[in-house]
Amino acid sequence: MWPIAMVDLKSQYQKIKPEVDQAIQEVIDSTQFIKGDKVKEFQDKLSNYLGCKHTIACANGTDALQIAMMALGLKPGDEVITTNFTFIATVEVIALLGLKPVLVDVHPNTFNIDIKAIKEAITPNTKAIVPVHLFGQCANMEAVMEIANEYGLFVIEDNAQAIGGDYIFEDGKTQKAGTIGHVGCTSFFPSKNLGCFGDGGALFTNDDALAVKISCIVNHGMEKRYYHDRIGVNSRLDTIQAAILNIKLPLLDNYINSRQLVAQFYNKAFSELDEVATPVTASFTNHVFHQYTLKIKNGKRDALKKWLDEKSVPAMIYYPIPLHLQKAFEDYKEDLKIYPITEQLCEEVISLPMHTELDEEQLNYIAESVISFFKQ
Ligand SMILES: *Cc1c(COP(=O)(O)O)cnc(C)c1O
Repeated sequence: MWPIAMVDLKSQYQKIKPEVDQAIQEVIDSTQFIKGDKVKEFQDKLSNYLGCKHTIACANGTDALQIAMMALGLKPGDEVITTNFTFIATVEVIALLGLKPVLVDVHPNTFNIDIKAIKEAITPNTKAIVPVHLFGQCANMEAVMEIANEYGLFVIEDNAQAIGGDYIFEDGKTQKAGTIGHVGCTSFFPSKNLGCFGDGGALFTNDDALAVKISCIVNHGMEKRYYHDRIGVNSRLDTIQAAILNIKLPLLDNYINSRQLVAQFYNKAFSELDEVATPVTASFTNHVFHQYTLKIKNGKRDALKKWLDEKSVPAMIYYPIPLHLQKAFEDYKEDLKIYPITEQLCEEVISLPMHTELDEEQLNYIAESVISFFKQ
């Protein structure tokens, strides 16, 4: 039998191989490896797709978050509120800049930042909130923006997992995930919903002045060549990666659709299993299923994982350890609170294969493998 992959980048590439290979060859022929025309082309195309004024490409999603915090002028000691249930990058950059990470608990059904917990965590030193649109659905941005406006805080959206997703406002209007806060950040890591062939990232904003600062920071703080106006970093998207992304961006909506169909299939397949909670999508967002994550309610998550391993069905635990229990954050221990939901989720969640190339035969096999565990 064909092996099932957690993420199948090979089959996805095969379908666009001629276009991608040609685009890469064009960059090689031009030798414009850094800041080539295709980078600007990609930035413009992504702004157009997202309906935002400015996109600034950079080297990866972690840099994007760091650059956003630098551009907003956050200073050592400033407090930044974010979620405890996320990939470490979000919190890493806060610590790296000498800012104080203030972790809060999440909503048990959506896995996204708990609005009530944000309010409780605000102090006179709070400067920013970083909602993460985890696994492909948006955090409650209307509520986050309301708090931010009330307290004069910046909002940086970590949109690494929800590019192309829609936020739905109370009046029914929609806006693309990542374009609602003061600045949005994303990653083009190969396995993300819009992945390149290496590392890549971008920032989005509708604020002209902030866009100028970001463009300057990504390139050593220079606006004019060799005139350095501020401390910057070296974080650019390679032209080759931009060339690949120019081919893949027009396919993003199709990719999202394929993921949503997989999720629909799984939801239906597991609807009768009492011990399994399928993903819940909040009313204010769609879901672009970067991950398809089940909650296993009876303490049998690890046994299920082992069962699936034996049947060659890959599954992953995103995330096994809450950030407040990570060794790297030992120094912040005294500032930390209690996180009952995050701790529970770390024991209950399991993510199934989710990508654009899963076929019916594979899906049936995965579903039967999960169901047979509960029918033993
Ligand atoms: C992947 C990811 C990042 C970091 O992106 P890189 O491009 O790998 O640096 C940040 N936040 C979240 C939530 C992610 O999933």
